[in-house]
Amino acid sequence: MTSPVPPGSGWPGDPATSATPVARRPADVRRLAGSRSLALTVDPLHALEARVSVCRACPRLVRWREDVARDKRAAYADETYWGRPVPGWGSPTPSVLIVGLAPAAHGANRTGRVFTGDRSGDWLFASLHRVGLATQPTSVHADDGLQLVGARMVAAVRCAPPLNKPTTHERATCAPWLDAELALLAEHVRVVVALGSIGWDASLRALRSVGWGVPRPRPRFGHGAEATLTSPHRDVLLIGSYHPSQQNTFTGRLTEPMLDDVLGRAARAGRMSP
Ligand code: SF4
Repeated sequence: MTSPVPPGSGWPGDPATSATPVARRPADVRRLAGSRSLALTVDPLHALEARVSVCRACPRLVRWREDVARDKRAAYADETYWGRPVPGWGSPTPSVLIVGLAPAAHGANRTGRVFTGDRSGDWLFASLHRVGLATQPTSVHADDGLQLVGARMVAAVRCAPPLNKPTTHERATCAPWLDAELALLAEHVRVVVALGSIGWDASLRALRSVGWGVPRPRPRFGHGAEATLTSPHRDVLLIGSYHPSQQNTFTGRLTEPMLDDVLGRAARAGRMSP
């Protein structure tokens, strides 16, 4: 089965073309995300986004994301779903990097833009707008004009997983994409916001793997928890936030002031001079 949206067919913000190389196995991901391979391209970050967006290295996730895109939720029956991996999105020179877990089946897997089109995104973008990191309070589709201001969002796993649960093997297969993105952004990033304990763990693993200094003992996740990491360029603040999942927001575990507090701290720290 081919992807619901062919690369380069006009989807807003689609970074890929029909010539973008496709990773079909974990070894392909490691090779195509490798610094030597990306250095051969004109724009390594754009090339990375493109390669991520056509990846097919996890058979279970490819099947799931494309099944969801074909079957659709009734409310979106008239829409075309993206049905492909969701690359990082936002500023190419971000001081604030926000790390989530994975795209939602009927959110980013539908719209093609990270956190866009689901309730978690509604919460997140409204807060980002309140603290000055987004130009609009809503994020509806990939062509809605929204821009992040000095910020970028990435998912640790780039394909929507069944039950929001990627396997350990799938997380490991996808990890080189995040590692490569961090390496390309490192000179700009001053703050990393990790959403949920899985985003926290993924951030620490990725940051360590690209050579950033992580304190020992390993910092523990909590809402508002902070740790200072050392990138090759400066000290970087890691801040944890409860994930704006429906479970957390419906139950009041995460409130708007709590999210604004974390993202406001990130925005202020991101504006600090070196
Ligand atoms: S989860 Fe990551 S490695 Fe697996 S198919 Fe999606 S983009 Fe590729």
